[in-house]
Amino acid sequence: MDKQNILLIYTGGTIGMIKDAHTGTLKAFDFDSLLIKIPEIRLLDCSIETVSFEEPIDSSNMNPNYWQAIAKIIESNYNDFNGFVVLHGSDTMSYSASVLSFMLENLEKPVIFTGSQLPIGDLRTDAKENLITSIQLASLHNNGIPIIREVCLYFEYKLYRGNRTTKINAEHFEAFDSPNYPTLAESGVHLKINHEFLRKEKFEEALIVRTKLDTNIGVLKLFPGISEPIVKAVLETENLKGLILESYGSGNATTDAWFINQLGKAISKGLHIINVTQCSGGSVIMGQYETSSQLKEIGVISGKDITTEAAVSKLMYLIGYNIKPEEFQFYFEKPLRGEMT
Ligand code: ASP
Repeated sequence: MDKQNILLIYTGGTIGMIKDAHTGTLKAFDFDSLLIKIPEIRLLDCSIETVSFEEPIDSSNMNPNYWQAIAKIIESNYNDFNGFVVLHGSDTMSYSASVLSFMLENLEKPVIFTGSQLPIGDLRTDAKENLITSIQLASLHNNGIPIIREVCLYFEYKLYRGNRTTKINAEHFEAFDSPNYPTLAESGVHLKINHEFLRKEKFEEALIVRTKLDTNIGVLKLFPGISEPIVKAVLETENLKGLILESYGSGNATTDAWFINQLGKAISKGLHIINVTQCSGGSVIMGQYETSSQLKEIGVISGKDITTEAAVSKLMYLIGYNIKPEEFQFYFEKPLRGEMT
């Protein structure tokens, strides 16, 4: 079997940053230097090509234009490569992995996001292991058919489904978690692939890249004592089309009449409101408690066990494609890329 061809897409992030000698702040540097810093890459049994953002970014500057750029790079190289590794800052990596999972419809090849907590040049860096194992995972195949056929995130010895992840730590090497879905693979002495959790669909149609994303959405996190003017200001935001309501526990919220009335009014005017729990694990179950029954009655959509990152992505994606209002709830509540149970 020919060597697997892997495309490394460098977008920026700590992995490729360097300390400014004068100010001590971390700044992105060019990708060629990154490869010089990891000569081990040349020992891997695959051919690697690289493409880099012209101006690598700190992922806190990530936005839909960059997502479209990543998707287009994958689209135009899809037939020439067996897998893709996206080097990305960890801060917004879960958002990017989630949104790319929606943008890449009928994906049958691995797209693995990775990054690091310490720059590649640092003595104690986690960048090398993350990068090398991501490339190995992207090269796995069975008679030429890729074993991983979805958008994933690899960090600190674990491979996760990208749209199930969340960044949980700003300091530990173990910076990500997938609270509601098992890890897809673990790296120890051997690479242990949890085949039963991988996506296995085979698609009749070729890859479709969905680039329309509508950013007229918001996230409202509830807290005890939240006031009416704040809720009203959010709901009456000009052009707001979708709102993620971060509720308590299994999808609960205050039953104060002003709150339910405000939400009900906004829904009747066409706003899509999605109920996502503030808890890091578990699911929204509207109707389980009295404090969520009214939300269900007024037409709040259940985010089930989706992360906020994946909910933001799914909302931008579905609104971008002008899903009919009567079908919106059906599509949001249905798993499209394994993002909810
Ligand atoms: N601020 C950096 C970024 O997200 C942090 C990292 O790369 O881990 O781009």
